[in-house]
Amino acid sequence: KESGAMKFRRQHMDPDSNPSNNSNYCDQMMRRRKMTEGRCKPVNTFVHEPLVDVQAICLQGNITCKNGHSNCHKSSSSMHITECRLTNGSRYPNCAYRTSQKEKQIIVACEGNPYVPVHFDASV
Ligand code: ATP
Repeated sequence: KESGAMKFRRQHMDPDSNPSNNSNYCDQMMRRRKMTEGRCKPVNTFVHEPLVDVQAICLQGNITCKNGHSNCHKSSSSMHITECRLTNGSRYPNCAYRTSQKEKQIIVACEGNPYVPVHFDASV
């Protein structure tokens, strides 16, 4: 079964691609990473940094998450990310996304032992 840590890596990690200029990036990646099965996931962020650097965020500044839990952490550095947002006219099963590259600090929720990212909360 897929653990929370594995789900985070599937949904949010893409270290080996450059922050992609390719406007089809989100259409391809949202499908390839299985976020267009059953429904179109409305918003999702991919992080283009080494896994170890993203895992290290769990040791960085502790903050409150959007859901009120206290297990969120904000990266001390900004990171290369790509935001995928479902377009207005898009209807399942034809999930169409807008791709936007950004360089922002990211906030993740961490859990477990080892204490690793399990949820992407926000970018700031
Ligand atoms: P993501 O939230 O990473 O975009 P998702 O939209 O599919 O993924 P979930 O399936 O809820 O959302 O994945 C988040 C996982 O992280 C869940 O297993 C949830 O229980 C867990 N989690 C742990 N801490 C938090 C938190 N503070 N806020 C939200 N989810 C959390």
